[in-house]
Amino acid sequence: MGAGGGRSAEADTTGEGCRMSQIPDSLDHVGPGWHPILEQLHLDIIAVDPDYTTSQVKEKFGGLRVYLASCRHPDVNALIRAAEVRAQETCEDCGAPGRIRNRAGRIWLQCLCDVCVDKEPGDG
Ligand SMILES: [Zn+2]
Repeated sequence: MGAGGGRSAEADTTGEGCRMSQIPDSLDHVGPGWHPILEQLHLDIIAVDPDYTTSQVKEKFGGLRVYLASCRHPDVNALIRAAEVRAQETCEDCGAPGRIRNRAGRIWLQCLCDVCVDKEPGDG
């Protein structure tokens, strides 16, 4: 019998609510061979701009593309360019040295090593 309303006055001050997207949130958008490149790029970027956010991470024409939503440090663009150049010579499937080309029987370009270029995707 009391006036026990279910009122909770606890303020949620955990700082969540604003969903920021950074590179680790988008790793699945590219092949596993590029994950180490993106993880290193993330570390390099947060060293100069911990609050950076990405709008998109993807593969395009066989190359890596990283688009920033916000960036407050001029060095970040150079870091991204360096990672894109590195991805251009790294197999997107396995991380071995590779180059951009067509996979057998496919029309789209991918950066692949000599082993993966002959491998059928989804074949084990
Ligand atoms: Zn490979």
